Amino acid sequence: MSPTKTLYENVSSQFDRSADLAALDNDIRKILSRTVNEIVVNFPVRMDDNRIEMFTGYRVQHNDVLGPFKGGLRYHPSVDLDEVRALATLMTWKGALANIPFGGAKGGITFDPSKYSNAEIEGITRRFTYALGNNIGPEYDSVAPDVNTNAQIMAWILDTYLSTVSPHERHRSMHVVTGKPVELNGSAGRDKATGQGIVYVIQEWAKDNDLDLKGSTYFVQGLGNVGSWTARLLDFLGAKLVAVEDVSGAISKPGGMDLDELCHYVKEHGRAVKGYPNAEPVDHETFLKTKADVFIPAAMENQIVGSTAGLLNVRLVVEGANGPTDLEGDKILQERRIEVLPDILCNAGGVVVSYFEWLQNKRSESWDIEEVDSRLRKIMISAYARARDVVQKRSIDWRTASYVVALGRLEKVYRERGIFP
Ligand code: NAD
Repeated sequence: MSPTKTLYENVSSQFDRSADLAALDNDIRKILSRTVNEIVVNFPVRMDDNRIEMFTGYRVQHNDVLGPFKGGLRYHPSVDLDEVRALATLMTWKGALANIPFGGAKGGITFDPSKYSNAEIEGITRRFTYALGNNIGPEYDSVAPDVNTNAQIMAWILDTYLSTVSPHERHRSMHVVTGKPVELNGSAGRDKATGQGIVYVIQEWAKDNDLDLKGSTYFVQGLGNVGSWTARLLDFLGAKLVAVEDVSGAISKPGGMDLDELCHYVKEHGRAVKGYPNAEPVDHETFLKTKADVFIPAAMENQIVGSTAGLLNVRLVVEGANGPTDLEGDKILQERRIEVLPDILCNAGGVVVSYFEWLQNKRSESWDIEEVDSRLRKIMISAYARARDVVQKRSIDWRTASYVVALGRLEKVYRERGIFP
C-alpha cells in the first residue's frame, strides 16, 4: 500500500503539529509554511547518439533567514516539485536545529542516471547548472550531493559555474558547491559526514538507553553514501549488520555480515547487494520484520507507512534518509513504543560538514579529519541534547521535539529582525 499523502503534505503536517505545540507566532507560521523561491528549468542536452533530449530540473529555496540557502541535488525519476519542496523545507529545520547559519534549499533533475552514460550525465549536470545561472551562488545558495549525485557531479557543477563568472570572482566562489573532491577544495570527512553524524547520535541514544553497541544488531535500507558509511562506522563499534536492502533487493544474515566483503561485492556488482553469496535473499516484508536493536532507513522517503510500521521488530528507528516515515507510520511506531530519531536531527552531519567546507573555502583553509570530526561531534551531540530536553520536559516524541527546537530558533530570529518594510 502506498502512502496516502505526498512527501510535502507529510512534511507540512509535521510542521503544523509542531507549530501548534510550540505555540509558534501566527505570522511567522505563515512565512515558514511557504517556500521563498521555486525555480523550474527545462533544458536540452545532446545524447551520445546525437539526439537531443529535454530534461526538467528544480531548485527550491525554502527559507534563508538564518543564512544562505543550502541543500543537496538529487537525480531520480521520482523527482518533482512536491518532493523537492518537501526536502528544501526539511533543510531549513535541519540547519535551525543544528544551529548552523544556513537556510534550506534542495534541487533535483527528473531522470534515472543508471540509464545514461557518464558523458551524458556530465552534459545534463553542466546544462542544468548553466540554466540555474544566478539562482545559485557561494553566498546565496550552495549545492551538495544527495541521492545519485556525488563529488564528481559537484566538481562538474563547480567547473561550469566558475566558467560563467568573471575571472575576478572565480577563486572566491569555490563554495558554490560542497561535497567536492578533497583535492578540489573539498573537506576531509565530507564523504562520511552524514553516516558519522548518525553514529554520534546513535551513541548518545545508546548511552541514555543502556544499549551496548558492541554486539548490538541493526539493519539498514540503502547502502549508498549514507547507509554504507553508517554501517562501516557501526561495524567499527562492534555492532552487527543483520540485513540490508537496496534498490536491487534484500539480504539477511542473523549472525552478522562481513561488511568489508559485502561493500567490495556491491562495488563490483553495479552498486547492488543482489546475488551476494554469503547471505540469504529475502523479500521486502521479511526484511522489514528483521529482529534487531536498530533499523536505519537510509534510502528513499515513505518507507515506514501505515502498512509497514507494524512489521518492525526493533527498539529504535534512526532516519538516515529524509522523510522515510509518514504520519501514520509515526503514529503506529509511537503506539508500539518504538522510538524514532528523526531525519532533521540525525542526518544533519552532511549539512554540518558542508558548512565546514563552505567555511574552509571562504578562509582558504584546510582542516584535518580530527578537527572536522571533533567539531561535527560537538554539534551533533548539542542538537541531540537540545531535542532530548524537550522530549523529557514535554513528554513528546523526538520528531516533534526536534521541530520545537528548530522552530523556536527561527521564531527568535524573525522577532529580532522584524519583517521588511
Ligand atoms: P545514494 O544514491 O548514495 O544511495 C541510495 C541508496 O538507496 C542506494 O543503495 C540505492 O540502491 C538505495 N535505494 C534506492 N531506492 C530504493 C528502494 N526503493 N528500496 C531500497 N533501497 C533503495 O544516496 P544517499 O546520498 O546515501 O542518500 C540516501 C538518503 O539519505 C536520501 O533520503 C537522502 O536525501 C538522505 N541524505 C543524504 C545525505 C548525503 O550527504 N548524501 C545527507 C542527508 C540525508
